[in-house]
Amino acid sequence: MEVWFTERQTDAVTIGLKVKAVLWRERTPYQELAVVESEAYGRVLILDGAIQTTERDEYVYHEMIAQVPLAVHPHPRRVAVIGGGDGGAIREILRHPAVEEAHLIEIDERVVEVAQRFFPEIAIGLNDDRTHLHFTDGIAWAREARDFDVILVDSTDPVGPAEGLFTAEFYKTLYEALGPDGIMVAQSESPFLQPDLLRRVVQGVREHFPVTRVYLASVPTYPSGLWSFTWGSKRHEPEDLRELEAPWRAHLRYWTPEVHRAAFALPPFVKELVDG
Ligand code: SAM
Repeated sequence: MEVWFTERQTDAVTIGLKVKAVLWRERTPYQELAVVESEAYGRVLILDGAIQTTERDEYVYHEMIAQVPLAVHPHPRRVAVIGGGDGGAIREILRHPAVEEAHLIEIDERVVEVAQRFFPEIAIGLNDDRTHLHFTDGIAWAREARDFDVILVDSTDPVGPAEGLFTAEFYKTLYEALGPDGIMVAQSESPFLQPDLLRRVVQGVREHFPVTRVYLASVPTYPSGLWSFTWGSKRHEPEDLRELEAPWRAHLRYWTPEVHRAAFALPPFVKELVDG
């Protein structure tokens, strides 16, 4: 008998993965959490029926949410991830020797615990001495935060507790939590399937950040496969790359300086959403 996991990405679109085994299922105080072993993408972390990450394609998303701003910030010492309980963004942040503190602000402690058990290679940085775990709402945390160099918003889709992470008011809070060289990057969903949301994120970021840009990456298991990230910075342009010779960069599987620059080249249909 074949067993399939189907994510309903919109009312009219699904993605299906053939499942070898269901490894974990629970209802946390915040969401339904599951881990399945899929034939094509390895282990898959699922929250409320939506794929969060898979062993096979996780590096695309995690490298692109983290390496892009960290390659530009001149001295990324204090970095925070809001959401991101799987730990993939933290792993990427910790590759940078300049980073002294990596803060993870995750509302649901169970996501971290399950990621550590089932996705040790993704969650590897969560036990690092430089990592500080805060199990609280990212919105409340950000109101008190100050002098961060880079903040990443690695959230679930804008429903439930993540809804407030997609508002202009929240981007203002992030602006105030960042130092003068500060850069924020937020995952901003699919330009094909959630164009209105991408437009809303860009408008919200642009209200507060003088440099607002969008970049794209190809994440096969996310809706439509074409994923967007929205960049907001106080003064740095995304083209101002630094430290390109660092030897650890040879271990990356998606980010290169060329991919970094190319990711900001937008097809006209995305440009229209962003400029409109
Ligand atoms: N990369 C994934 C994606 O784009 O689908 C997101 C991964 S990560 C697992 C998302 C995390 O955001 C979840 O674990 C969820 O608990 C957390 N989250 C949602 N709302 C939050 C909030 N208000 N504050 C902190 N964490 C939040």
